[in-house]
Amino acid sequence: MDKRDALYAAAIVGGGAAGMLAAIALSDAGVKDILLLERNDRLGKKLSATGNGQGNVTNADMSVSHYFSSDTEKVNEVLSAFGKDELLAYLTSLGGCFAADGEGRVYPTSRQAASVTDILRYALAERGVCVKTGEFVLSAKKSGKEFRLKTDKGEYGARCLLIAAGGKASPHFGTDGNGYALAENFGHSVTRLSPALVQLKTERDGIKGLKGVRIDCNARLLRGERELYACRGDVIFTDGGVSGNAVFKISSRAEKGDFLSVDLLPDCGKEALASLISAKAERWATYSSEELLRCIVHTAAARAVMRSLGIGAEMKCTSLVGRADAIASRIKDYRLRIEGSNGFENAQVTKGGIPLSEVDGYLMSKKVNGLFFAGEILDADGECGGYNLQWAFSCGVRCAKRIAELLYADR
Ligand SMILES: Cc1cc2nc3c(=O)[nH]c(=O)nc-3n(C[C@H](O)[C@H](O)[C@H](O)COP(=O)(O)OP(=O)(O)OC[C@H]3O[C@@H](n4cnc5c(N)ncnc54)[C@H](O)[C@@H]3O)c2cc1C
Repeated sequence: MDKRDALYAAAIVGGGAAGMLAAIALSDAGVKDILLLERNDRLGKKLSATGNGQGNVTNADMSVSHYFSSDTEKVNEVLSAFGKDELLAYLTSLGGCFAADGEGRVYPTSRQAASVTDILRYALAERGVCVKTGEFVLSAKKSGKEFRLKTDKGEYGARCLLIAAGGKASPHFGTDGNGYALAENFGHSVTRLSPALVQLKTERDGIKGLKGVRIDCNARLLRGERELYACRGDVIFTDGGVSGNAVFKISSRAEKGDFLSVDLLPDCGKEALASLISAKAERWATYSSEELLRCIVHTAAARAVMRSLGIGAEMKCTSLVGRADAIASRIKDYRLRIEGSNGFENAQVTKGGIPLSEVDGYLMSKKVNGLFFAGEILDADGECGGYNLQWAFSCGVRCAKRIAELLYADR
């Protein structure tokens, strides 16, 4: 159905994870005349790129402790109403097939994120949802009982409006943060926004010579000497800093000036390591310091450790016997000062957004009746591992339920 200038029951801004599933759930709740507007020339461009193209849609461990928000109680309410099991059952009913990996991350068995987008696209078409791609929503307002939307191609009216325009992360997917301005026009506020699940920039000295090295380590985030977070995972050294799943986890909590402490040898205790180094230094006394950590840690990491302790490559092992403790300590706690992040351009999600205190438990605006928000635009973000897509999907279905009720009550 195409009703330019006509009145739709519900209009949705944004054909991403939240917007698409909301439209499908609305239709399944019996709502007709649904309009889905997407600025890109195709739906779900970001969804199709998720999980390195494999689409990590949710996680076996859906505890709310994996989320950041000023109102985790409301996050929990939304996730409890439509969680992992409900999501997988729904997506399966639409033709999907999913399985968890050893770490609980759930992917389509095709391991193709685009196949998740496809089943949603087909479901929308099957249900006759009016999908308009390549159409950018410029403004939205409420006039009487009706929402009026202006796009770069025309104008539409709707009785309910869902803004699911995403955040500011990875703007090349169409998410440049313009959705916040739409919300602000309705009197909503937006919390401080920052990039999350992103590479971190660090001081240069500490990463010299390490580019491309991947280390399975224990990573800790320190503010002064206070440990804010710790996890086991990969740290990958890059041109200007660090990446990898441990860094992504830490990035959601890190601030400029914090320290990343990397335990380069997580499965070996410090005392045992010091004894090993001391024994090696004595046994191969005439060898250069370069050889001392050979086969213990990655050669590039060994050089970085030695350099940070002021130990030159030309020094002989014999002179390092007494420094075994210090070397072991540095291997167990190699610190890098965090200078910032690689920004929204490279981030997977946005931290912050429309405060959940400004919406009710069904994500309807407390300021404007009939206006809803879903997904990343809200002040809630999750860790790496399927938590952000689950949030977007859960929000979409949560809104749809209430929109359908409102529309029925209004008949
Ligand atoms: C590279 C990458 C990998 C990721 N991998 C994962 C993963 O494996 N698992 C996971 O859980 N999360 C992952 N995420 C995060 C996840 O993709 C997002 O959190 C999620 O897509 C948010 O869903 P959303 O519907 O709120 O917004 P989006 O999916 O971003 O959709 C918003 C849509 O709104 C459209 N739009 C914006 N403004 C307008 C406008 N004015 N008019 C019309 N349309 C508009 C945009 O073009 C966009 O298509 C990843 C993110 C990135 C960038």
